[in-house]
Amino acid sequence: MNSPIYQTVIVGGGFTGLFTALHLAHNRYPRSVILIDKNERFCFKPLLYEYFDGEMDTFQVVPRFAELLQGSGVIFVQDTVQSIDLHQREVKLVSGDEYKYSNLVLALGSVTGYHRVEGAQDNAFPFWTQADAIALDKHLRDCLQRALQTDDPEQRQKLLTVVVVGGGASGIEMAATLADFLPLWYSALGGNSSEIRVILLNHGQEILDGDINDPLRQIAETELQKRTAPIEILTGAAATAVHPNAVEYQSNNQVKTLPTYTTIWTAGTSINPLIQDLPITQEHRDHHDRLLVNSTMQLLDFPEVFVGGDCAAVENKSLPPTAQVAYQQGANIARNLRAIALKEELEPAKINIRGTLLKLGLNDAAANLFNVFEVAGEPAHLIRQGTYLTLLPTPIHDFKATTEWVDEEIFHHHLDSQDVGKKVVQAVELVGAGVVGVLVARRLLKILGDDDKNVNKEQGTGNGVQ
Ligand SMILES: Cc1cc2nc3c(=O)[nH]c(=O)nc-3n(C[C@H](O)[C@H](O)[C@H](O)COP(=O)(O)OP(=O)(O)OC[C@H]3O[C@@H](n4cnc5c(N)ncnc54)[C@H](O)[C@@H]3O)c2cc1C
Repeated sequence: MNSPIYQTVIVGGGFTGLFTALHLAHNRYPRSVILIDKNERFCFKPLLYEYFDGEMDTFQVVPRFAELLQGSGVIFVQDTVQSIDLHQREVKLVSGDEYKYSNLVLALGSVTGYHRVEGAQDNAFPFWTQADAIALDKHLRDCLQRALQTDDPEQRQKLLTVVVVGGGASGIEMAATLADFLPLWYSALGGNSSEIRVILLNHGQEILDGDINDPLRQIAETELQKRTAPIEILTGAAATAVHPNAVEYQSNNQVKTLPTYTTIWTAGTSINPLIQDLPITQEHRDHHDRLLVNSTMQLLDFPEVFVGGDCAAVENKSLPPTAQVAYQQGANIARNLRAIALKEELEPAKINIRGTLLKLGLNDAAANLFNVFEVAGEPAHLIRQGTYLTLLPTPIHDFKATTEWVDEEIFHHHLDSQDVGKKVVQAVELVGAGVVGVLVARRLLKILGDDDKNVNKEQGTGNGVQ
């Protein structure tokens, strides 16, 4: 008889998977851990805009897994998962390698959803990964160069017009970023920055409708108008087709066309195809096909399998598909994997929604703190930067310093109180914490400055006009 395998396999190294691995390593998990991701680097998605526009660097936003996990005991495998056999407890990779597991963590996230809009998948730019950010950056620089060189005003206008499809958080953050940076980049090349057009196309009548950032709508609407290139917001406008040189949309029962060489698609997410293919019945999925898990984050039919982040739906709970939910679930999954190994009792995941943060261009943001207090402009920008900079995963030896500081000192500390008055005072303190966060982080970045230069050189891209 074969001896049992005690091996935990984590598929997907995003917010759920990486944080599960880091927590396991930090808490001296007694079993072997294998983390599989198709990419060489973790992607801190909320800061992908800063990576794209050059405000932040590669080593901050997309650090290498090998570096993050150095000395942790976690084995990192860079490969694409091809299939998962829940009955045989086996994961197959594109390289042909196979991994057996005693416990599995499904942390594959979600993918861009195109809602079957004609040409969208082929002609629009997604903004989901490091590769997407690099491709968009390259395309836009090319457009700006060509705009400078053409004498044809129509052609120039098409090259200088960007249409962002989707008025959710991602679309707004993208439009605001472009509306501040494209004019800067174009005038640095000698172009007339007033010719830049950024258009936000939104299916519904209101931006941020049904989004966790809904309370920030008014601030967002005001701040979007303050960008270097004012953003044209078209509401009630449903994209119906994307061509290489135009977007078609329907508004008031009329089909209209916007000539542009750049359409950016932020209008939806879909279930990861691997999750879709699993032999889990429709009753054990939610209406987005996400896998239902119990309160301890285990699959209902396969309790040895944990699921977190964008591919999970907790039974009888509605949680937004966000990074803050994913990394907290990762911590809980790690705690429960350890409990299984030590034959202790499993604990339900407690998720705190700690407010939301929205980037609204250069040095501008909106923050909704604990659903009672909203901050706009530069203070919100400082809160956002400070919070994210301190949340960035760091190599395992710095792990305690970063995650615990943010978790305990900023968030839990403030969330313990139910008193709204106190919360407002605490929120003001949090503005201070954000500022401190930025200062601490800036100091850290200065210390790490040399590393940073090396990474950029290696990558061959600075990603953003310097
Ligand atoms: C541009 C952008 C901005 C965002 N901003 C915010 C924000 O401000 N705040 C917030 O809370 N949330 C934000 N989100 C959402 C947040 O990033 C996600 O909810 C979060 O990343 C989900 O975590 P996850 O672990 O489920 O998946 P992910 O973090 O997406 O990780 C999934 C991992 O699985 C890997 N993978 C996928 N398929 C395979 C395969 N077949 N084989 C191997 N590996 C595979 C991927 O490479 C990836 O590393 C943003 C998302 C985007 C795209």
